[in-house]
Amino acid sequence: MYKLILTVLAFCLIQTCAAKTVPSQGYQSFDGYQVIRAQARTLEQGMSLINLQRDHPSLDFWKEPSLTDDTDFMVPSDKILEISQYLSLHNVEFYPLIKDVGQLIASQYDGYQMTGVREPISWTKYHNLATMYEWFQNLTEAHSFVHVYTIGQSTEGRDIKVVRLSKDPSANKPAMFIDSAIHAREWISLATVSYIMNQIVNNPEDNALLDDVDFYFLPIINPDGYEYTFTTNRMWRKTRSRNSASCYGVDANRNYDYEWSSCSGCSSGVCTSETFRGDTPFSEPETEAMRVFIEQSKQSGVNFQSYISVHSYGQYFMLPWGYTPAPPADYEELQMVANYVAGNISAVYGTEYTTGSSSTTIYPTDGTSQDWAYGTGLFKYVYTAELRDKGIYGFILPPTLILPTAEETWAGFKISLGRCLLWRGSACATFGLFGLMTIAFVSMMKTPTIVLGFLPTLIFKPFALWVVGGFIKELRTLDNFPTNSTINFPPAKPTLSLQHPQNTRRTTMIFRRESVSRPPSVVGSKITTISEEP
Ligand SMILES: [Zn+2]
Repeated sequence: MYKLILTVLAFCLIQTCAAKTVPSQGYQSFDGYQVIRAQARTLEQGMSLINLQRDHPSLDFWKEPSLTDDTDFMVPSDKILEISQYLSLHNVEFYPLIKDVGQLIASQYDGYQMTGVREPISWTKYHNLATMYEWFQNLTEAHSFVHVYTIGQSTEGRDIKVVRLSKDPSANKPAMFIDSAIHAREWISLATVSYIMNQIVNNPEDNALLDDVDFYFLPIINPDGYEYTFTTNRMWRKTRSRNSASCYGVDANRNYDYEWSSCSGCSSGVCTSETFRGDTPFSEPETEAMRVFIEQSKQSGVNFQSYISVHSYGQYFMLPWGYTPAPPADYEELQMVANYVAGNISAVYGTEYTTGSSSTTIYPTDGTSQDWAYGTGLFKYVYTAELRDKGIYGFILPPTLILPTAEETWAGFKISLGRCLLWRGSACATFGLFGLMTIAFVSMMKTPTIVLGFLPTLIFKPFALWVVGGFIKELRTLDNFPTNSTINFPPAKPTLSLQHPQNTRRTTMIFRRESVSRPPSVVGSKITTISEEP
């Protein structure tokens, strides 16, 4: 009997108790909270949403007030009636997007690895900070091309880590920098980025990318906030710096110095706001550590080309700027690549992405990492990715959707930025060589047979036709890109587009939708003036 009890206890410890992920007692309840989606289509409706946000600090805006996009916000149960009446009074269309946030969170507990629980990493669960950092350490011990930097400490003293994947750092190959979890509750961003890291490390095909490119990952910029979402509050967004006796946290993605606090309504000067920019640029040790690391790396010769900041949610792949509706200098090129990324993401599971400048696609922002990375000239190909979904789950994306989200995202990043953008030189060279060979063989075929002789023609003609065929295929693929693009390099895998004609159509459609939905700048400035902080 004694043995039986021990066996059952051991089984429980190994199989059930250890795997069970029950949050701590103090885990904040969101029972009865709703997420409401409002759709402002006139200036007056937009103003009423901005006033609502200003006057009700207890509302957590998941998507900022916008005329070009939906506005989502979480409402405590005791405020639902009051807020509904307010929206009706101001003729704003709305509906409950998530009917019970607390229930949704609780339904996923088995997919959360809470603090103190130890498990190996997987992509069927959301893992805690300790597991992630332990995994980074294991990677660097197992693979010579993995190097982990500790680039600083957070406000609460946690390490901030960058993982470099490079087979030859001294070669200064084109480098891609990817970060995630700057907003603590956007768990899918870290889950996806860690999947990408794992693919490059352990999948031989992806590992071969390291022959041409270096990768730098800052997977958890905001470790304090991320940990806090596991111990205390699933919906925490900001850092955990203390700004007053009762006010914690800065929106790290409004804390970079480029155009910091430059446009009214693009960030907040009020500490309790979810978009509080901090008292000064780089006030947060987390953003400061990132700045110093990137600047010093660049000075020491790292060939940074591409920067992607990974967030959720909404399914957008966006380019600068956030602080102004004016297009960036490289708009055409950045937009074309964004469309290509969106098309390749969509090709995997049909997930539709919208592309465009962030200020005109979602809402204006200032002091973001995206604007800093592009505006300082540290990177050219700068993007903000907002992963799944479009709001059915919002930030609380079920763990079962980690893998499909990660797979499609990596497909988009890899093919479009890895094999097309960063290989641009070799792709162009191949394209040019194709052209030269074609011209040579066509010229040769036009030469009288009597001069060349029968045998060479017999040998070369099929080869020449094959080359010409490939060349025409490439040209056809180029035709599928948006017509206002000035880019003239072919995708490295031209057959991909040919195999998915519906995919390229969708990409073009997204581009057009973005173009027509861009609001006149005067509308934006009117709205932001009204939203000025007291
Ligand atoms: Zn975010």
